[in-house]
Amino acid sequence: MLAAKVVIDEGVHVEGLNFFTGFCVEGHTHAIRSSDAHKPKRNNALWVAEQLGIKLHIVDISDEYKDIVLNPKHGYGAHLNPCLDCKIFMVNRALAWGFMRDNGFDFIITGEVVGQRPKSQRKDTMPLIARESGADDRLLRPLTALNLPPSLPEREGWVNREHLYGFHGRNRKPQIELAHRFGFTEYSQPAGGCCFLTDEKYSAKLADLWHARGERDYSLDDIMLLKVGRHLRPEKHFKLIVGRDDGENNFLEGYRKRFVHLRTVSHEGPLTLIDGTPNANDLDLAARLAARYSQGRDADAVVVTAHHPNGVVEQFAVAPFPAHRIPAAWHV
Ligand code: SF4
Repeated sequence: MLAAKVVIDEGVHVEGLNFFTGFCVEGHTHAIRSSDAHKPKRNNALWVAEQLGIKLHIVDISDEYKDIVLNPKHGYGAHLNPCLDCKIFMVNRALAWGFMRDNGFDFIITGEVVGQRPKSQRKDTMPLIARESGADDRLLRPLTALNLPPSLPEREGWVNREHLYGFHGRNRKPQIELAHRFGFTEYSQPAGGCCFLTDEKYSAKLADLWHARGERDYSLDDIMLLKVGRHLRPEKHFKLIVGRDDGENNFLEGYRKRFVHLRTVSHEGPLTLIDGTPNANDLDLAARLAARYSQGRDADAVVVTAHHPNGVVEQFAVAPFPAHRIPAAWHV
């Protein structure tokens, strides 16, 4: 928002590019979880474009992006976040996208700041992103430009270098001050993270999925479901996804026909999906676990129905699994 505004104020025509990777946080979990009900349910990129009065292009890169997540040339950050490869890919995608060439765009702007992120936003990795993406000096970072050699737009006088900034480090105070100077009273909170791949628990669930399936691969549905519910894996060949609130239960309803799913009948309870190939004993255990997360957790027996994708419905009366006996290792 700030980087775009700085360049717009130089009289440059700016349009926004928002890449959908499938791992985005905002506009997904905030819309699903009841606990996030107070957070705005919006696409923040679209909202920013509206605030700035610029056109936004939303590009679905979820298919091509898989290769970046599975095989990052520069490795991962603290979790399964391939930030350096991700940035190179996105800048390259902006370049390679015929739109830039066909519509006469001359350069690319990002909001990166030297030292803001330990891996992808260092003084030595910033030139690497410019080089490996192919953008070279057509990549301008207006917020930190004074820490970097002059880019083409600065040298050509398309933007005045003296109007750019030299922000560095993790401190966001200068950005917040600049936002206030521009009159922005509302902006997304950068500290919250915008991408699930930087989240320790999410990355553990993704790694568990790869381990259980014996291959490093995923579908869009897989990575959506990792954002939702309590995930319990009693055995390598199956796991439970248990809704944690009404919002999550509603979301999981959309997937119920593709999975064996459990409902507690005698007591109110969550919707539980079973991912994998459970046998009869596994179903019994799964029903007991589903009962544990229902209102009948202290009852002697809870009636649970198991619905198979072929339409078969089984019914069990089970003793809820005692909470203290659920091994920590089952919690993915
Ligand atoms: S946080 Fe996610 S979207 Fe952002 S650079 Fe890293 S991998 Fe890419």
